Amino acid sequence: MASRTETDEEAALEAIATLQNCSGEQKKAQEEIDTLLLDENPFANINELFPLYDTLYFRGLLLRDRVEVSWSSRLTLCAGICELLKDNAGKYRRIRVKLSEPLLKYRTREDTVNTFLHELMHAYFFVTTSFKHSREDGGHGPGFLLLANSINNHGSYFITVFHTFHDEVDSYRTHVWQCNGSCKDRPPFFGLVKRSMNRPPSKSDFWWTRHEAECGGEYTKIAEPKPTKAQIASLSAKERAGRQKNKINAWLTPAADAGPVDAGTEASRRPVRKRAADEQTELTPKRATVECPICNARVAETSINDHLDNEHSS
Ligand SMILES: [Zn+2]
Ligand SMILES: [Zn+2]
Ligand SMILES: [Zn+2]
Repeated sequence: MASRTETDEEAALEAIATLQNCSGEQKKAQEEIDTLLLDENPFANINELFPLYDTLYFRGLLLRDRVEVSWSSRLTLCAGICELLKDNAGKYRRIRVKLSEPLLKYRTREDTVNTFLHELMHAYFFVTTSFKHSREDGGHGPGFLLLANSINNHGSYFITVFHTFHDEVDSYRTHVWQCNGSCKDRPPFFGLVKRSMNRPPSKSDFWWTRHEAECGGEYTKIAEPKPTKAQIASLSAKERAGRQKNKINAWLTPAADAGPVDAGTEASRRPVRKRAADEQTELTPKRATVECPICNARVAETSINDHLDNEHSS
């Protein structure tokens, strides 16, 4: 086992090194994760995924140090947290990852998995740095970015430095349905269901029955994605030329006000884990500001975590 007092960056490099040449155990974990994420079940079983991710990405150190994972019905400020609790000796050495049931229950499994991996990374850094895990940059310093990038590349995940959902994530889900019931006035989703697949809300969603009981409204489709490659191919040459110009403009304009791209935003550009049916989704350009999920104010993307800490932490 490696030393217990690494820096975030050293810990990230140690984890990344294991991915260059995966062990048999890692490969087996990878296969099991793929199987779990292949079916159509929208629910992510974090207890099943936890030991597999621990083996694949975190050197088995999370289970060794008894990191706990659970769902919370009271956590509403962010989608997930990694908290330190007092152990039997009264020291803050118990690590617990909690995911927000209220914020994630209407989201896709990809969101849950990406949030889960983000929080497991914090747990991994607490374990490997003897709890010195950098609090600078909100714990999302160079070591965090390094590992996030590697895991994103390795498994086509979409781990960002954010603890909340925002336009960046939403921009991948371009099929949108609006509920006409009471939930349309309630944060954080205001009755919106956004998906990368053209799969309308239905009985196959695990939250369907609950929504029927609590809201009872009906969903109407209000937005569609851009045309697929096949659809574009069938356009006339003239239509295609016009489209191409719009696309180029769309990419140029936001980039101009977005400023330089740092490692963090690069990490957050990775595509979400995709299934075959999602392939038609095109990435949309990144935006410089995001909407605060609590007060709905427009906030610079780079300062959303500060905003949440300063304005909304209790
Ligand atoms: Zn974080
Ligand atoms: Zn509703
Ligand atoms: Zn706010």
